[in-house]
Amino acid sequence: MTEITCKCGCGRKKMVRTADVKRGWGLYYSKSCKAKKQGRLPMSKEKRVQCLRDAWGDGRISDEYYAFVMENEYPECMDAEDVHLAAINHIHISETDH
Ligand SMILES: [Zn+2]
Repeated sequence: MTEITCKCGCGRKKMVRTADVKRGWGLYYSKSCKAKKQGRLPMSKEKRVQCLRDAWGDGRISDEYYAFVMENEYPECMDAEDVHLAAINHIHISETDH
């Protein structure tokens, strides 16, 4: 493990895996620090979930991708329909896995 000081200038430190540092990861204390440094304001979670739902509703992203992202990024924002989709997705993955 290596202690890094966040590159955004907030001065916070955190322990990251040395292997990650060598890969060029672990430069920032958090994702919002990284977004700030890169000049993008972090979008609110509600806004991102709404964008995702819009993209899915318009057919720009697949059911699988939508369910995957919801489950991994915003599990607390999932409604019954999202949970159902994710469940179908899991069945699909296990069927194609072997
Ligand atoms: Zn920072």
